[in-house]
Amino acid sequence: MDVEVTSGVLAALHSHAIHSHAIASGAEECCGLLLGHVLPEGGERIETAVPTANVAPDRRRHFEVDPRALLAAHKAARGGGPQVLGYYHSHPEGPAAPSVTDQEHSTGDCRIWAIIAHGTVAFWRDTGNGFSALAPNVVA
Ligand SMILES: [Zn+2]
Repeated sequence: MDVEVTSGVLAALHSHAIHSHAIASGAEECCGLLLGHVLPEGGERIETAVPTANVAPDRRRHFEVDPRALLAAHKAARGGGPQVLGYYHSHPEGPAAPSVTDQEHSTGDCRIWAIIAHGTVAFWRDTGNGFSALAPNVVA
């Protein structure tokens, strides 16, 4: 199943990570939701990156999307809004790949995880057997 991401979303992910790390002394993870649509021919298109609060107790090494924001996004989706296709978070240190902690938090819900680190964004799918790398097509 193909995944598409808009160039605007990529730019937003980069700027959110840079901004969060700057104001948090480069230490805390930022996170948010990836919203978009399932395409009629199959596949998904990520169209918006929505920053949320990171409510994890230790934001230097963990992230937890604000559950109120997640609930609101699911409600909006049921009301005809964009779907919650996945989540994003940053790694202030370490590579743009799922960490041991991320593996532990994998639920196998097949959602997309974008991980931002060192100026790159990598996309993964939570398959339940760990994470598999995605190579989304960048669209305008
Ligand atoms: Zn992580």
